[in-house]
Amino acid sequence: MTDHHGDARRPGEILADLPEATDAGLRFVGVIRTPFATRADCPRRGDAEQGPDCRIEVAALYEPALLAVEDHARIEVLYWLHEARRDLLTQSPKSDGAQRGTFSLRSPLRPNPIGTSIVTLLRREGRVLVVRGLDCLDGTPLLDLKPARCGYAVVAPDKA
Ligand code: SAM
Repeated sequence: MTDHHGDARRPGEILADLPEATDAGLRFVGVIRTPFATRADCPRRGDAEQGPDCRIEVAALYEPALLAVEDHARIEVLYWLHEARRDLLTQSPKSDGAQRGTFSLRSPLRPNPIGTSIVTLLRREGRVLVVRGLDCLDGTPLLDLKPARCGYAVVAPDKA
């Protein structure tokens, strides 16, 4: 009843009666390999300095999309928190009955369970990126990679 590592609910939490899903047309572009086998093993937030080395395995189809990724020391990783329940509207992070809205939290439990982390890129090995700073389960599907905003200079010319 008191943890969120399974489907348990906590007192006072509000669940949604979910509408039919629409097809947003997402394509997973790879898989994330971490040392975290269970949700309990995962840190709440990845550590881009001291965290363990993790591997982002980009699917062969998307390898050309990695061109010049090594130019960026910090990468924003978007992933699909595939084991998260999606119907919680309010949550009690401290299990004390005090509620917060899902959109005020970075909880993995959300209508569209997209996780993001800013990671340090240690090296590229072909279509594998070795990074530090992830907090997700081994086998988590990869949605996207982008240079982190803080170190990114816009490549395209200014809009007229
Ligand atoms: N860093 C991301 C963010 O801010 O969007 C995710 C933060 S969330 C608090 C991280 C937690 O999600 C982990 O500690 C673990 O409990 C849970 N988690 C990790 N991978 C998951 C997965 N594939 N499916 C469901 N839950 C996951």
